[in-house]
Amino acid sequence: MYFKSTRDQSKKVTSAQAIAQGLSAEGGLFVPESLPAITLDTLKELKEKTYIERAIFVLSQFLTDFSSEQLENCVKNAYQADKYKSESITEISHLYEGTYMLELWHGPTCAFKDMALQLLPHLLTTSATIVNNEKEIVILVATSGDTGKAALEGFKDVNGTKIIVFYPVDGVSPMQKRQMTTQQGDNVYVCAINGNFDDAQTAVKTIFTDKELAKVMEQNGKLFSSANSINWGRLVPQIVYYVSAYCDLLKNEEITLGEKINVVVPTGNFGNILAAYYAKKMGVPFDKLICASNENKVLTDFINTGIYNKNREFKATISPSMDILISSNLERLLFDLSGCDDQAINEWFASLNKTGVYEVSDSVKQELSKQFFGGYCTDEETKATIKKVFDRYSYLCDTHTAVAVKVFEEYKQKTGDTKKAIIASTANPYKFTASVLSAVSSEVCEDEYEQVAELNRISGLEVPQALANLKQCKVRFEGSIEKQDIKAEVTKVLHL
Ligand SMILES: *Cc1c(COP(=O)(O)O)cnc(C)c1O
Repeated sequence: MYFKSTRDQSKKVTSAQAIAQGLSAEGGLFVPESLPAITLDTLKELKEKTYIERAIFVLSQFLTDFSSEQLENCVKNAYQADKYKSESITEISHLYEGTYMLELWHGPTCAFKDMALQLLPHLLTTSATIVNNEKEIVILVATSGDTGKAALEGFKDVNGTKIIVFYPVDGVSPMQKRQMTTQQGDNVYVCAINGNFDDAQTAVKTIFTDKELAKVMEQNGKLFSSANSINWGRLVPQIVYYVSAYCDLLKNEEITLGEKINVVVPTGNFGNILAAYYAKKMGVPFDKLICASNENKVLTDFINTGIYNKNREFKATISPSMDILISSNLERLLFDLSGCDDQAINEWFASLNKTGVYEVSDSVKQELSKQFFGGYCTDEETKATIKKVFDRYSYLCDTHTAVAVKVFEEYKQKTGDTKKAIIASTANPYKFTASVLSAVSSEVCEDEYEQVAELNRISGLEVPQALANLKQCKVRFEGSIEKQDIKAEVTKVLHL
């Protein structure tokens, strides 16, 4: 299997090259040349297997230049018992008749990003071996919370790698800050900057394209790389859990083989829902893909009009991991829906760069509205949904997942579609304790750990060990730096 770039189809690389390189040289994203098929017979066979076995199978269809031993090692290292508490890796919870929560947050950092970021470091280092790269890989991350911690935990003590994370000093939740500043591992470094997320992001991007620094890195046997979701190695692990969820529903006799179900995904950068689209295209019987946004509803508008317009006010919401106005992975979907029209992709994204707007062709619009439904949810509605779901079904969901629940209800009302559905549940509610607590209780205390205790008292939901333990963990990374000093900090940390 080869991978090609969304902006230049003639560029063909192996999966190891695609993962080691991250982004194609002309700025395109790598996509598989064709999608392997998953037949109903295959699903029937996979139904009897463990999550790890299902993952090895799905990955082997895409990463054909990895040996089976390499693949097995990667997958086992990612999802072994001390990282995930049960062999099922994900959990499916019955919300109400025909509606299931696919909980993707039982990993070490309690967010769905672990599903991909536990595996990516192993795929990346193995890819580096396959393409004969002997350099040390230095991962630079700018984070507004979830990605930074999940990447730190994924790359922690992985041989041949170092990871440096920058976060805005006042731009993350107290729990997220504590998660990062207490991070263990000999190859990790965490740094707060006096600025906002954009400042951190811009500084990191500048470092990536700094030719002089790249030369110094090369001389020192090091290479920068990125852990964000433009890398194919972050996307492919996400296809696995959609295949696996269908198998689990089959196994529990909630659905019959071949029965079509809908999928609902709280969406930001479009990685998670794109994985569902790929799973569907491979043959998993998914029908409508329901894309749920918060008030940064660029995607809702796009699905409904075919016009992508990022020129709007950026809103800080209570579902911060979806506060995003440029959804990078949408490029992969549009490439596919346009019949691999790299020229159109170049035009649209040049226009996005220049004016902040692009409009897709009529045929793409038609495909979009056939396969996707887009809706959004305000903060008020998010809180009301958390409360309603808790009161009615005794199920506590986080702010991101609540957005999906709300949009799913709107979808059913508008269409009358009664098919069964899985809703991707993307974070443990304790990661966003203050917002979740304020949705279910009128009394809100100041201290983060008092809030956790209160939410636990009200809901009875177990506090994950990883979050509870943080209270005792020693803070390893203190203080903050000015944004113009980020490059100097990187140079210092790497002894360049
Ligand atoms: C990152 C994230 C999302 C958005 O996922 P995308 O793949 O970027 O669309 C949703 N919920 C949570 C909790 C996240 O961390």
